[in-house]
Amino acid sequence: MQAPYRIELPNDFGMGSVNAWLFTEPEVVLVDSGEHSEHSWKALNEQLAAYGVSVADIQKIYITHAHVDHVGMAARVVAASGATVYIPEYAYDICVNTKAANLKRFEVIENILLELDPNPQAPLNLGYRMIFEQFQDYWIPIPKEKAVPVPMQDFQVEMGGASWEVMYAPGHCNNQICFYQKEKEWLLSADMILKLLPSPVIEPTIAPPYQRNQSMGQLIDSLKRFRALPIQKAFPGHYEIIEDVESIIDHQLSRIQMREKMCHDYLSKQKASFFEVVVHLYGQGFSPPCIPATLGYLDLLDMKGFLKKQSTVQGVVYSV
Ligand SMILES: [Zn+2]
Repeated sequence: MQAPYRIELPNDFGMGSVNAWLFTEPEVVLVDSGEHSEHSWKALNEQLAAYGVSVADIQKIYITHAHVDHVGMAARVVAASGATVYIPEYAYDICVNTKAANLKRFEVIENILLELDPNPQAPLNLGYRMIFEQFQDYWIPIPKEKAVPVPMQDFQVEMGGASWEVMYAPGHCNNQICFYQKEKEWLLSADMILKLLPSPVIEPTIAPPYQRNQSMGQLIDSLKRFRALPIQKAFPGHYEIIEDVESIIDHQLSRIQMREKMCHDYLSKQKASFFEVVVHLYGQGFSPPCIPATLGYLDLLDMKGFLKKQSTVQGVVYSV
């Protein structure tokens, strides 16, 4: 069977690049599609050519999760190839009704952030709005007639002449799947196993009443589940192939513990706003993914019954 080839595409949202994974035999299959931009399209075409195939040859695209850098350009590939796109069931709506579903998602996120800091001009709120507005252009919807939902688990797909098991992998987001090849012990790991700790994004739950998803708890559970799985190689959504999966996961679990402890120690000495906690953990120049991560660490303290929350006109004030 064939190992997937790494197609490294540009990412304009701070990750440097994003991977699509290519199988050329027995049919041309792409896992994830990169984000929609001219330089991403050019990079895809050039790299496919290096493996002797073209976009027009692509027959199937499997999507790992509904984030702009993984799905944004799929519709352009479909237009050029007629390929069918297989989408995790939970990600289906946002991949075909992209604009409306993203708007709904952002409304939920915006309300959560406004609870943390009611000032719409606060750096938290401004930062998120900016990202949301930017990524619209990078993400085009997949035509319904070419989109097929894939069950979140207990399902096999064929790629590279072998069977891959679909594994539900919530934590980074709640619509993510990975693909596991049992004989080779290979995992197409999406943004579940990365060299950097995946960011547990702010999003509503899959089912009503659409409260805020407990992403950090899910991320820890998923990391532990994949830690118990024999994995020789992970083919991740960003950066290079990972061969020391166990030590990467152990490192990430210990980092989560360390950050949670930092939050606890800080809040045991003083009360602080959400923004102050973010700055304490990451410094003034924090990047956007630090926001959901911080919320996740606070969730962990909350789950253990340590966290005290006080709503004020300036937003939530935390202590332990
Ligand atoms: Zn990603």
